[in-house]
Amino acid sequence: MAINTDQVLVSHSEIEQMLERLSSEINRDYGDEPLVVVGILTGAFIFTADLVRRLEMPVIVDFMQVSSYVGEFSTGELKIKKDMSYDIKDMNVLIVEDIVDTGRTLALLKELLLKRQPKSLKICTAFDKPSRRVIDLVPDYNGITVPDEFIVGYGLDLDGRYRDFDDIRIVRKE
Ligand code: 5GP
Ligand code: MG
Repeated sequence: MAINTDQVLVSHSEIEQMLERLSSEINRDYGDEPLVVVGILTGAFIFTADLVRRLEMPVIVDFMQVSSYVGEFSTGELKIKKDMSYDIKDMNVLIVEDIVDTGRTLALLKELLLKRQPKSLKICTAFDKPSRRVIDLVPDYNGITVPDEFIVGYGLDLDGRYRDFDDIRIVRKE
């Protein structure tokens, strides 16, 4: 089976416009207050790098690597592969994610980070697939809403590949 990634869904210039809009919303909302930005590895590494360079407040950049599993008798469990290194107690925290799909990962992560008593906790996602949501989770900052297609590029992968594309493409298996 061949993988076709010819179809561009979001161009690089649309991504740049999205970055400008999101960063101005975030700059407006936090003002000069310090912000801990938590990028979710691996998918959000490029988005996090692009976003933090447009932020104007003092920023601490940290990363976590997590995934969610749905067991037979549970609504989902969070597996932490890499925790963050910074203590977020009494800090403003912004989780930066590549894409929100079912919402499970972020719902569980939010629950976990809230126990660490941050001053505030918000979510910023580059892409959102609301049609796939199973958990009621609305990102505070949403870049671009995408249809129910598997997308790659701009950090998002298929089996580790295509993260380096500077645009977003739809995967077709043919
Ligand atoms: P969920 O919201 O379902 O808990 O999980 C979201 C995660 O699933 C994302 O962080 C991403 O890793 C992966 N994901 C969901 N949709 C896509 C997609 O269209 N393309 C890629 N590459 N990953 C996706
Ligand atoms: Mg992810």
